[in-house]
Amino acid sequence: VSGLLCYCRAGFEPELAAELTDRAAHAGHAGYARTVRGSGYVVFADDDAQALSRALPWHDLIFARQKLQLIAELRDLDPSDRIAPMLAALLPEPAAGAATPTSPAATRFGDLVVEHPDSDEAKPLSGLARSFGNALRPALRKTGLLSASARNDLPRLHVCFVAGDHAFLARGELRDSSPWPLGIPRLRTHADAPSRSALKLEEALLCLLDNDDRQRLLKPGMRAADLGAAPGGWTWVLMRNGLHVTAIDNGPLRPHLFDSGRVEHLRADGFAWQPPQPLDWMVCDMVEQPRRVAGRMAEWFREGWCRHAIFNLKLPMKKRWQETTLCLQEFATQAQRPLLVRARQLYHDREEITVFASRGGV
Ligand code: SAM
Repeated sequence: VSGLLCYCRAGFEPELAAELTDRAAHAGHAGYARTVRGSGYVVFADDDAQALSRALPWHDLIFARQKLQLIAELRDLDPSDRIAPMLAALLPEPAAGAATPTSPAATRFGDLVVEHPDSDEAKPLSGLARSFGNALRPALRKTGLLSASARNDLPRLHVCFVAGDHAFLARGELRDSSPWPLGIPRLRTHADAPSRSALKLEEALLCLLDNDDRQRLLKPGMRAADLGAAPGGWTWVLMRNGLHVTAIDNGPLRPHLFDSGRVEHLRADGFAWQPPQPLDWMVCDMVEQPRRVAGRMAEWFREGWCRHAIFNLKLPMKKRWQETTLCLQEFATQAQRPLLVRARQLYHDREEITVFASRGGV
């Protein structure tokens, strides 16, 4: 089996399959997607997985939480010995006629992740994944396949159980995959966050910006607007980063947001309000038609009202991949200036994607 193994939010397999198919075709690859609705993963079969993987960098994919290169698909695994077939799939064939077993393979992996798709069906496999990881790790080390301690100069080995007797082996390149198991960052809910939505913006800042971006682009004293701010989760995240926030919403904000002195609340229409002077940031979580939101976001950049933005595009419709590409195209065209754009369906996004756009300094 040759190709890619990608994870996604359960139910969004058609979107991920469409995205991989479109992008692969665009890069001259004639592979095909294989998936089951609700399974939380898509296999994209292609003869030249390495070239395909290079053509589809993980950071550019919108609906993939994780992107891995397939090594093997193992079916009908015997529950009494799942390790032997995995080692056989990972170790080079012994040379024909060789009297002695081949010497230990060069260390090929710097870490091991045993996981299962994020789906209702696969969740009961979490116990197996944990105990199997503990059993497989020493066996891999004995063969020399896995380094003695975690290394960040070697790819990760992923074992993905989709059933007790069915697993994928795949390789994750450190600079071209999510660092988190299942591609899900672990974020802590804060007791004083006004809403769970705060986690969405926190995840966006973590996943769509890198360390360097965060240090340069999110500085105390910067000014931001939050369109559709109530009850104030996103405003709270910006405020905690030291930004001054104008929160636009007809609904009420949680009173403790005002304690910092950095939050101002305006009861206004987020589609009509414009800032009296250019801002560093604009964020927007208004529930509206995605094309209308994309158009308004483009206007902000066209008019120079902000340098950076993070906004959500809600996707309650059926053809979500098509709608996504349309919205992002319209956004890019209408902004009328070169922008860096990164979009992703985050773990905390339900029927929506989150977009980071920046007009410079990135
Ligand atoms: N990001 C918020 C948080 O973290 O707490 C949650 C935002 S909630 C999903 C959407 C908000 O958008 C609602 O409070 C709603 O009142 C507001 N909204 C929708 N349309 C709006 C408009 N045209 N102008 C201003 N606010 C709007």
